[in-house]
Amino acid sequence: MIQKAVLIGINLNISGRERSMDSLEELAMLSETAGAVNAVSVLKNIKRIDPAYYLSMGMLEDIKGLVLSVNADIVIIDASLSPAQENNLSEYFDLNVVDRTRLILDIFAAHAKTAEGKCQVELAMMNYILPRLKGAYMMLSSTGAGIGTRGPGETKLETDRRKVRQKITHIKNKLKLAEKTRLLHRAKRDRQGLPTAAIVGYTNSGKTTLMRNLTGKGEKGEDKLFATLGTKAASIYDNNRGKKVIVSDTVGFIQNLPLFLIESFKATLEETAYSDMLLHVIDPTQKDVLYKSEEVIKTLDEIGVGDKEMIVVLNKIDLLSAERADFLKTKLERLMGKPVVLVSAKTGENKNLLKEKIFELLL
Ligand code: GDP
Ligand code: MG
Repeated sequence: MIQKAVLIGINLNISGRERSMDSLEELAMLSETAGAVNAVSVLKNIKRIDPAYYLSMGMLEDIKGLVLSVNADIVIIDASLSPAQENNLSEYFDLNVVDRTRLILDIFAAHAKTAEGKCQVELAMMNYILPRLKGAYMMLSSTGAGIGTRGPGETKLETDRRKVRQKITHIKNKLKLAEKTRLLHRAKRDRQGLPTAAIVGYTNSGKTTLMRNLTGKGEKGEDKLFATLGTKAASIYDNNRGKKVIVSDTVGFIQNLPLFLIESFKATLEETAYSDMLLHVIDPTQKDVLYKSEEVIKTLDEIGVGDKEMIVVLNKIDLLSAERADFLKTKLERLMGKPVVLVSAKTGENKNLLKEKIFELLL
């Protein structure tokens, strides 16, 4: 069943309107990826976070009106809610209410394919649950409930925590195993002596489409941000040289990734450490293109692959004017100090030029 979603953007005093709008737009992409249809999205300016409902009563009434008028199935809030807030809101609207983190976890879970990807998601989920147990505990003790009620609550909580921690250890072991298997595969690939290029970039920038177009393999590029959790690889041939290069797809960057998901996201990028070069795909139709490109570079630096050879792939030029494309190319060249190639992964424009550059760089 397709769910009809009402999306609520949040503008706290500190965040600024433009950033909040940007975040809300990304939430809309994520929501579609999760399989929902976005009926309405509104931005709410918040002065003070309500401990029980996050939003003020007036806002809740507004949103309730929206929910009824579009007959929504779900409300997605662009914030991080406490378990209590989530419950209270669900009760108030009489439907499922999820926050940004839960939405991302849902997408991770739905799209994880490899053993390793699945472990990563499970781990992230457990890490999500653990502090929420603490939240539940704090709720319990702050109600000032009597001695008799608090004791058993604490005990149960300790058991829950222990269970979650055991689960985390178990998953970490499974992950190590999955990693070993992958290393084995990689060793096999390396023995063939084939150079490799890893595709990185923001969600929806066109990584999977590019991969498919370059290699004639990979997944059908969908408007689903996480069509590619886990590692995918295929090869491209240079007919003139009679040479082969392996290209691998990676999971996309998310602009407002919750802090605790950053480590598991980075882990998904570790594969890039074994590649000989990076293809950094950029979608010029997204907002803050230059800022986002810098964020990608920063993260690559953090995981220790910042000094790898790189081609910046300015994608979706079929949607750009020639002037705008030229302008961005110059800017990006200056910003990154790397070669920039304009392509359209969709139409295949300049595909061969990009292939040529890849082979030039690697051989
Ligand atoms: P990924 O998340 O980076 O893997 O992005 P996808 O490859 O899934 O593409 C995201 C969306 O952008 C899909 O709807 C693609 O059809 C679209 N897309 C990708 N490349 C191009 C392009 O060069 N031009 C246009 N117009 N759309 C593109
Ligand atoms: Mg993809």
